[in-house]
Amino acid sequence: MDNQSAAGCYIDITKRHTFGIPTRAMGWQEYGSVEALQALLNDLRSRNVDFMPIGQGSNLLFLHDYRGVLLHSAIGGVELVEQDADNVLVRAGSGVVWDDFVAYCVASGWSGVENLSYIPGEVGASAVQNIGAYGVEVCDVISCVEAVDVMTGCVHKFLLDECAYGYRDSIFKQSLRGRYIITSVTYKLSRRPLFRLDYGNLQQAVGENPTLQSVRDAVIEIRRRKLPETNELGSAGSFFVNPVISRSRYDELLRRYPDMPHYPVDETTVKVPAGWLIDRLGWKGKSRGGAMVYPQQCLVIVNTGSATADDVAALAADIARSVWETYRITIKPEVNYIG
Ligand SMILES: Cc1cc2nc3c(=O)[nH]c(=O)nc-3n(C[C@H](O)[C@H](O)[C@H](O)COP(=O)(O)OP(=O)(O)OC[C@H]3O[C@@H](n4cnc5c(N)ncnc54)[C@H](O)[C@@H]3O)c2cc1C
Repeated sequence: MDNQSAAGCYIDITKRHTFGIPTRAMGWQEYGSVEALQALLNDLRSRNVDFMPIGQGSNLLFLHDYRGVLLHSAIGGVELVEQDADNVLVRAGSGVVWDDFVAYCVASGWSGVENLSYIPGEVGASAVQNIGAYGVEVCDVISCVEAVDVMTGCVHKFLLDECAYGYRDSIFKQSLRGRYIITSVTYKLSRRPLFRLDYGNLQQAVGENPTLQSVRDAVIEIRRRKLPETNELGSAGSFFVNPVISRSRYDELLRRYPDMPHYPVDETTVKVPAGWLIDRLGWKGKSRGGAMVYPQQCLVIVNTGSATADDVAALAADIARSVWETYRITIKPEVNYIG
């Protein structure tokens, strides 16, 4: 689509975020290079216009029309920058569609991202969100992240240690939120398959003699069964992050709920599946206005066609409240509310 001017009337961005809730923004600008982004930022700053980077909009809830310009990366390309007998370093432009990147790596025989197949979104956001699935997080394979400082226009290269990655978390979501726009991400992948099949029913789905392609196929098949296709039913994937609680608190809860699952995080904390907490409270299929808890996976809130952002936010708040009232556990949205 053509770039839009920041001035004048609002444009429709309903199809540019996966909830599909009618939304408008003051403008939409695409940049295809670091230099183009720097020029855009310079112009927006000089005119005092608000802006925000956006990928495929697959983790966003716009609470109302966005009073600024959305900046979308069209920086493409996947480049092999270094290799040795064991590993490759591969740089991808922030505008590359994440699953295209995964498909390319699998076809090239590079291992590390196959479990992250079919996650919506683009390469730039993968490094912000620290996307994860089936026991793998993207920070396991990130080597460095290149980004432009929105205040100065300078390019900064963040090494892995500087990104402060945690569970669905990074420095770009915390202290540097809104400060950098990512232009490329470099991943370190293995030339030998390093299968991680110990999560959920993946091993069973893959069967004997796995290959990178068979793991990718199995992940896609499971995800298609469990999650809504964004072009059919609006959603932003898992609405809540799994809460991390102390082991002592978990032991207390276990006395009341002996079947409560958990994944150890470290010596003192465990992660409890938010989906289990919500499911047990009977939320599956419940709705508020046009927003509904997805019947196949109650961690997902879907737009049944007529949802407003208020419907989604109200349903999410009700769910979080009931989880707190029952278990005294706070569950927080994974979805970014844009207010
Ligand atoms: C059906 C479905 C299933 C999903 N499954 C998973 C899953 O298994 N695991 C998982 O981790 N996530 C999952 N998600 C969530 C989503 O796919 C990820 O969060 C993804 O990384 C978002 O990418 P995006 O390009 O759509 O980013 P957006 O939603 O557009 O943006 C997300 C955030 O990143 C920022 N951002 C975007 N691009 C840039 C950039 N270039 N520089 C700086 N900041 C930027 C935005 O400002 C925003 O804060 C799922 C979503 C859906 C709809």
